[in-house]
Amino acid sequence: MIEDKNPQRTSIAQLGEFGLIDHLTKNFDVKNPSTLKGIGDDAAVLDFKDKKVAVSTDLLIEGVHFDLAYMPLKHLGYKAVVANVSDICAMNAKPTQITVSIAVSSRFPLEALEELFDGITIASQIYNVDVVGGDTTSSQKGLIISITAIGEAKEEEIIYRNGAKENDLVVVTGDIGAAYMGLQVLEREKQVFQVNPNNQPDLENYTYLIERQLKPEARTDIRELLEKLEVKPTSMIDISDGLSSEVMHLCKQSKVGCTIYEEKLPLDPQLISVCEEFNIDSTTVAINGGEDYELLFTIALEDFDKIKANPNLTVIGHINKQSEGIHLVTRANQKIEMKARGWNALEE
Ligand code: ADP
Ligand code: MG
Repeated sequence: MIEDKNPQRTSIAQLGEFGLIDHLTKNFDVKNPSTLKGIGDDAAVLDFKDKKVAVSTDLLIEGVHFDLAYMPLKHLGYKAVVANVSDICAMNAKPTQITVSIAVSSRFPLEALEELFDGITIASQIYNVDVVGGDTTSSQKGLIISITAIGEAKEEEIIYRNGAKENDLVVVTGDIGAAYMGLQVLEREKQVFQVNPNNQPDLENYTYLIERQLKPEARTDIRELLEKLEVKPTSMIDISDGLSSEVMHLCKQSKVGCTIYEEKLPLDPQLISVCEEFNIDSTTVAINGGEDYELLFTIALEDFDKIKANPNLTVIGHINKQSEGIHLVTRANQKIEMKARGWNALEE
């Protein structure tokens, strides 16, 4: 995990808006030829030549999307970039630029914002995206972050949510559910800490889950992998709100139904053991837990041989007619209708 904590507290009012922007953006360099003008003018200027451009925005509100009690600011910055880069990956495009807008109250010293921007800088280096602009303003209380990601692809490379066809296979990358359980572990530690602040948490048995929650990665590798395997998915989406909710989006937009098999869901062994400890059903977690940032896609049946040996890719089901509905088949061979529980922030 990324190290955190900076003991100094410099008031941001001291720097003024422009001083603050200069200070926070001084480390951003330009790496992509498509960036003609980055930070420093009224607008960034980009040139994608004959490529198509994918654009995606996310807004993150303190207390709604993140809790600074267990989310270190450096991780928050990293994760905010990852979540947006992941959306570009879900279009099968290559992420190239981001803009970063923040609203911040005087409760945050300069050092806190430095942590946030360190996380953003690290992620932008790892994912090779240029930070080409943003906005910096004040808020009354909490922290608000909005990131816009931009990516490029040839027109024929782009994969939408609406292309799944009957008999296609449903494939998921990596493993799912771990980020949600990482959050459960952190929530529990927060409660323990509130009762006894001297209690030092022992998180050794939870490292993978916590890492998935605090430092997720976007699957920029899948675009290259699919190209190498010569497979073009028929539809694709990233798993930010939970498998069931993403499956429903794909099916709705593609006007199809689907069957997912419980026994095929890719779960990390640590997820299974911690679910036992928490007395939570691991399938429920895998289906409804969000923030894994894996990719969910469909491929034509005849492409199965090309992907079947790949440890990054798991076939979890197949596409049916829309009239057949969306179901999960349990290990006991029961057919349950899937509901999009997802992570609906408006629900709670
Ligand atoms: P304007 O007055 O046109 O909004 P600003 O003075 O706010 O311009 O911003 C100056 C430059 O710094 C612009 O290029 C803007 O995109 C960039 N910028 C401002 N805030 C951020 C931020 N939080 N992250 C990255 N770039 C930023
Ligand atoms: Mg501005």
